Amino acid sequence: MTARSQEVRAPELDAMAWLGALRGAAEAVSGHATLDNAAREVIALVGAVAGWPVGRLLSVRGGHVTHTRVWQVDGTDRYQALAAASDVGAGRLAERAVAIGDAVWTTDLAELGPIAAEASHAGLVAAVALPILRGGDPVAGGSVAVVECFTDTLDRPTALVLDLAATAVGQLGRIVERDRAQAASGEAVLLTEVAHDAYIAVDDLGRIVDWNPEAEAVFGWAREEALGRDLVELAVPERHRPAFAERLGQLAAGTDRPVAPRRELTALHRSGAEFPVQITVWTAGGDGSRRICGFVRDLSERKRFEGQLASQALHDRLTGLPNRVLLRDRIEHALARAGRRGISVALLIADIDRFKLVNEGMGHDGGDRLLVAVAERLTQLLRPGDTVARMGGDEFALLCEDITGYHEAARIAARVVGAFDKPFHVQGADIALTTSVGVAVGAVGGPAPELLLRDADVAMYRAKDAGRDRYEVFDETMLADATERLSVENDLRRGIAQGQLRVYYQPIVHLDTGVIAGFEALVRWQHPTRGLIPPVEFIPSAEATGLIVPLGRYVLDEACRQAASWVGSHPAGERLRISVNVSAKQLAQPGWSDEVAQTLAESGLAPRQLVLEITESVLMDDTDATAVRLEELRRLGVRIAIDDFGTGYSSLGYLRRLPVDILKIDKSFIDGVAEGPHESALARAVVKLASTLRLEAVAEGISTRKQLLQLRRLRCPFGQGFYFSRPQPPAAIPRLLDLGVLEGVDPGE
Ligand code: C2E
Ligand code: MG
Ligand code: MG
Repeated sequence: MTARSQEVRAPELDAMAWLGALRGAAEAVSGHATLDNAAREVIALVGAVAGWPVGRLLSVRGGHVTHTRVWQVDGTDRYQALAAASDVGAGRLAERAVAIGDAVWTTDLAELGPIAAEASHAGLVAAVALPILRGGDPVAGGSVAVVECFTDTLDRPTALVLDLAATAVGQLGRIVERDRAQAASGEAVLLTEVAHDAYIAVDDLGRIVDWNPEAEAVFGWAREEALGRDLVELAVPERHRPAFAERLGQLAAGTDRPVAPRRELTALHRSGAEFPVQITVWTAGGDGSRRICGFVRDLSERKRFEGQLASQALHDRLTGLPNRVLLRDRIEHALARAGRRGISVALLIADIDRFKLVNEGMGHDGGDRLLVAVAERLTQLLRPGDTVARMGGDEFALLCEDITGYHEAARIAARVVGAFDKPFHVQGADIALTTSVGVAVGAVGGPAPELLLRDADVAMYRAKDAGRDRYEVFDETMLADATERLSVENDLRRGIAQGQLRVYYQPIVHLDTGVIAGFEALVRWQHPTRGLIPPVEFIPSAEATGLIVPLGRYVLDEACRQAASWVGSHPAGERLRISVNVSAKQLAQPGWSDEVAQTLAESGLAPRQLVLEITESVLMDDTDATAVRLEELRRLGVRIAIDDFGTGYSSLGYLRRLPVDILKIDKSFIDGVAEGPHESALARAVVKLASTLRLEAVAEGISTRKQLLQLRRLRCPFGQGFYFSRPQPPAAIPRLLDLGVLEGVDPGE
């Protein structure tokens, strides 16, 4: 996102004060016998540094917030009434923090549940919930309690402040765990033995002086073996040792302040295996007896899951080849390398001729097998290091690095065309195919990845026009075609102005009953000569040219107006939700949330009935500007959905920071869901993730009954797809609403 200039500037962090709070929290936990007393002190310490005058500790059982344990208010009378409201339970905010296992910030007081009115009465406008983790993975693990703090300013704390506060408050977990362990065993238990994170302490020479049972499990060394050993040698991979030892030295000497408590590092297991960990470090004791203590959390599980998501996001499911996203990334790297070394890169796009006919003749299954066979043959053709990717459908791309120029690129293209001379043996038959190949060459100062792709595409179409079964190398004369495409921009500009855009609506249904829950608004372009054009053909250029802003405005206005009319005219209208796709460019517009508010007011649609869909990649940028904008929208009462979830380079961090309500699982996860345990494993994991995070999951692109049944089994609550209905023009919607329930809904199953 490019809205950096509008970002909220974070105030300077008072590192020393935070360090004091962290130490204080650790001491409070060791010094107080009871949880409530320690909690009051820790909340007061953290509140004083962060500017949060009121806070409370809530109990958590079985993953749900149960009741308030204690309140802590600053000296004033101002918040006494709120504290007296006491045990009326918690709202969504605390539930969210517990589910996510990380700090959550909101300015939407409704999220505080029953105490919202009292809080607002006391002049409070924002709140943070800090979960106290049982340790382990925030996605799969649990929280044992949660601290909520309230403030009277709208300033959003930085991620670092939230981390520091969560770390300080997290110390309380050891008391909770100790109490539970004592209750279970009837024996006194040491605090360090109940931490679910590994707890390690070293002396000022780096020798291990404490090593709890969890450390034994995480690193594979028993306590007796570990004590007295050098931590760096025992638990740090060799290449990281110098840097790690230096940092330990600084901590021991007191010259470094451990103010960024959470860091991700690579650790070494006894077996020699390396694994990712998150560490939180602090120092204790004075001269001569200084200790460096740390919690270490094994992140392997979470990373594995992220890795699976990433691989799914970057590869084609059918052939296992890199997909368009990964290819684009490879092209970028190849061009950068080529620039440094003064060599060229060739990009070939190969599209199978008349594949549609073959596909129809062989059936879906046969067509798939044929594509796999083509993928294999193309892969064998290339040198290691080159990339074969599937662009979608029957289109493949080949990226060759280190070529000498056009001649060599043409030779490779001839090889690709020639590779189809032999028939493909599939389903006991020999299938003859041909392909048309377009070639573009990139070199120093050459085109950007998109342009290289476009050039190769232009050349490929030229090969088709010239009679197929051949290759064409892109040259400047073909630029005329490309320029013609550029005229799309002017065409679209005119189209928007002349009202050629249409909004279609695709139902989103409750999967267990088939009842229509709402609609997604999807734009189309009714072109005067080309007919109805789908969004994939013009949204990218609308994005690139900025036309997406007026286009998006039109769709939002139109969808809100339509939805309001259905609400007014149909008995089922009241519960409907309308989802509108929002692009990064719109989100970055200053004052965009005001525009949304105005549109809602003018249309008369209730904010809670509007869902804004934002694609994952936008959210993953996770800039403060995005967070601020989403908070503004949230305050309006509008819901936020992550679109195409799973297609980004999934790191799940943003899920914890941003106020998201709905997760739309990308079609690529749904395609294979009915095919067997292996194919459905990721869909299952994503549905589970959504429910852990208390997000509503919507499965996109359901096209068969089998998929529906499997998704129901996975307890995915919502879905949309051609199986229920294709996107429809507005005139068709009242009839769908009359039906109320869409096909495929046999409650017996
Ligand atoms: P999306 O938001 O993920 O929308 C879902 C797309 O999946 C729609 O394609 C829908 O027709 C298609 N789809 C739904 N069910 C099935 C199914 O069972 N099988 C298959 N093969 N496809 C299914 P559509 O309408 O072509 O829209 C494509 C994309 O264009 C949308 O993806 C969205 O990213 C973008 N888009 C559409 N309208 C707008 C808009 O007003 N603004 C912006 N910024 N983007 C839009
Ligand atoms: Mg969408
Ligand atoms: Mg989508």
